[in-house]
Amino acid sequence: MNECELTAIHDAAARCIECGICETVQDEGCGCTPGMWGPFARHLAEEAARGPIDSATERLLFTCSLCDGCTQACPVDISAANIVREGRRAFHGQHSSARERWRPMMVDLAGNSFARLRAWRDISYDDAALDPHQPCASLFFPGCTLSTYSPELTMATFDYLASRHLADGMTALCCGNPLWGLGLKERGDTYANALSERLAMLGTKYIIAGCPNCYRALRQSQANGLIAKDIEISALPQVLVDAGARIPAERSIAPNAETFCVYDSCSDRATRAFGNAVRALLPPGSWREMQHAGEDALCCGSGGMVSFYDVSVCQTRRTRCVGEFRETNADCLVTACVSCTNSMLRSGTPVSAHHYLELLFDTPIRWEAHRAASIELAQSDERNGMPAGLNDPILP
Ligand code: SF4
Ligand code: SF4
Ligand code: SF4
Repeated sequence: MNECELTAIHDAAARCIECGICETVQDEGCGCTPGMWGPFARHLAEEAARGPIDSATERLLFTCSLCDGCTQACPVDISAANIVREGRRAFHGQHSSARERWRPMMVDLAGNSFARLRAWRDISYDDAALDPHQPCASLFFPGCTLSTYSPELTMATFDYLASRHLADGMTALCCGNPLWGLGLKERGDTYANALSERLAMLGTKYIIAGCPNCYRALRQSQANGLIAKDIEISALPQVLVDAGARIPAERSIAPNAETFCVYDSCSDRATRAFGNAVRALLPPGSWREMQHAGEDALCCGSGGMVSFYDVSVCQTRRTRCVGEFRETNADCLVTACVSCTNSMLRSGTPVSAHHYLELLFDTPIRWEAHRAASIELAQSDERNGMPAGLNDPILP
């Protein structure tokens, strides 16, 4: 890999003042301990340039959740996630066969797990899909997790938006975020360019992002010049608040819950666009705060695709989050991201955790159907071998 492509790594190596703030946050138990990013970046630059990236460095790169929790208070604005993404990129450059482990998250290949699971469960959005020749000024962009885990909630949301003329259509495309997270920068950029062309073809001027990760990734693509700057990108819960939606007091989901605790997604820490709006959807004054919330939000365990490397690290993160929720004594944990809900429910500690859309539309995510499909698909692959064509490229 070209040395000059290690921009964030060299930048951190040069500018870190070694104040130790990031190390203190890691020591609180994020599950990954690279220490101060300046010294780590110098070591990483050395290994990236001369190779090989050793197993200890590899482990730090792939157990980091890219949550930026340890650098959110960095006095010189170093981003842990940017360093780690570049480090992963350098690692893949040295170990090209290692990336197969993450193939399910490669959204530019036909074998990505979202597309495969939707096909396995017969989930299709053809009814709401867009005729590529028809303009769609306002586009609902639910993101991979919502559209794969819960077609019911996806369509309930789309129907709500469409009935109020807030969305003209929707797409089940990915924002490209997993590719950048894996360190596959060129492929992420190629994907975003194709997405941008699709948006231009549709005449899209307004995107309603259904997931905090997509919201951040789409805005980052815009900042990087990959998506047109004149497209307005909004956070779904804020659109719902502005439309007058509120979580009803009478529900079949968490029917007796009177107090709530909003779990803030780590990807929302910079803008709080999702967290603030989800609080506004809840009955006034009904929520309690976790110790780590807002800009101090913890990763739920699914960030950084760490589960493909060491699921025990994810489990530690899930347990920590659920522990903080239980300390609030709130009745129900409310998330803004379906992956966060999934993480909370898989912590091993029974917990009442729901995505805010479940409460709003009184429609449950059918976790058992999703998990059964995941198991069946894995068993089918084991029995019949992996189907052909998994590595066929797909672009928006
Ligand atoms: S917080 Fe920033 S400046 Fe301080 S040690 Fe960490 S990376 Fe360096
Ligand atoms: S997991 Fe988050 S807090 Fe821990 S090192 Fe990575 S970016 Fe920092
Ligand atoms: S699932 Fe939620 S908290 Fe976890 S990494 Fe994604 S956005 Fe962050």
